[in-house]
Amino acid sequence: MRPLLRLRNVEARYGAFVALQHVSLIVPQGSVVALLGPNGVGKTTLLRTVSGMMSPSDGEITFDGIRIDNMPDHAIARLGLEHIPEGRGIFPTLTVRENLQMAAYTTEGMNGSIERVNQLFPVLQQRRDQIAGTLSGGEQQMLSLARSIITQPKLLMVDELSLGLAPRLVAQLFDTLEKIKRDGTTILLVEQYVRYALRLADIVVILHKGRVAFIGEPGELAHEGKLVEAYLGGSQAESATAEAEEQGGPRPRRRASGGATSGARPKRKPSAPRGSTRRSSPS
Ligand code: ATP
Repeated sequence: MRPLLRLRNVEARYGAFVALQHVSLIVPQGSVVALLGPNGVGKTTLLRTVSGMMSPSDGEITFDGIRIDNMPDHAIARLGLEHIPEGRGIFPTLTVRENLQMAAYTTEGMNGSIERVNQLFPVLQQRRDQIAGTLSGGEQQMLSLARSIITQPKLLMVDELSLGLAPRLVAQLFDTLEKIKRDGTTILLVEQYVRYALRLADIVVILHKGRVAFIGEPGELAHEGKLVEAYLGGSQAESATAEAEEQGGPRPRRRASGGATSGARPKRKPSAPRGSTRRSSPS
């Protein structure tokens, strides 16, 4: 698969603090890449750096063959890269319909995408005249997702859209993401619900202290219990291992689709599976 997004040795800083170091990875077109890791490892920073909300202090980012690391965020968005930042993305004083119209305003062929949005989010169709700020938390998250896909992005970057949602709504949200994936949209996903993320993802990237610690297919994590525990820890690790066992156990292992690469120096254990898995040790 053709690389849609490519990061090469990206570094990002908040003043003197280096939040991302030597991050290299590829998001192949049509794939879902899940970016995992505990709090504070740089997941949000990575998305912000790609979408132009902050500039990398080093490295190179290309999107759809175009160098974007020095572009302003609005120019990057115009190329078809849509970023739903953590915890927002709607106009609370406008109605649902107006929110969708605002998103569609600059998009050609919006009639087709509005129809698709109505199919994907029947609840928004029912509530089209409701003021967006009075929607439930889950409905607001659905609206921000709907606003993003109405522009028919090439790449959708989603930062913890499940935050604060009841488990039933998280399941619904992931069902919708699955449909968006089936429509052919490429997705880069930051998510704390590791099981759901791994079910959706073709490639998983684990960040550790601003560096890429692992890149591989979700099923490969089943063979990486210690590594998963070291990098994800606690309940995230449990979920990841359980999901990976389901995915990696009975069926034959696949190779990673299209060369996701890590900037971290690979350190293979003797028992390591073959494939595109790359890792470095936690420090
Ligand atoms: P979480 O899962 O909690 O959202 P994360 O993996 O997305 O975490 P980031 O938000 O990218 O992590 O933060 C990476 C590091 O950068 C953290 O140590 C954080 O404290 C720091 N950081 C984030 N934003 C700023 C900022 N505006 N100024 C200074 N440091 C920041």
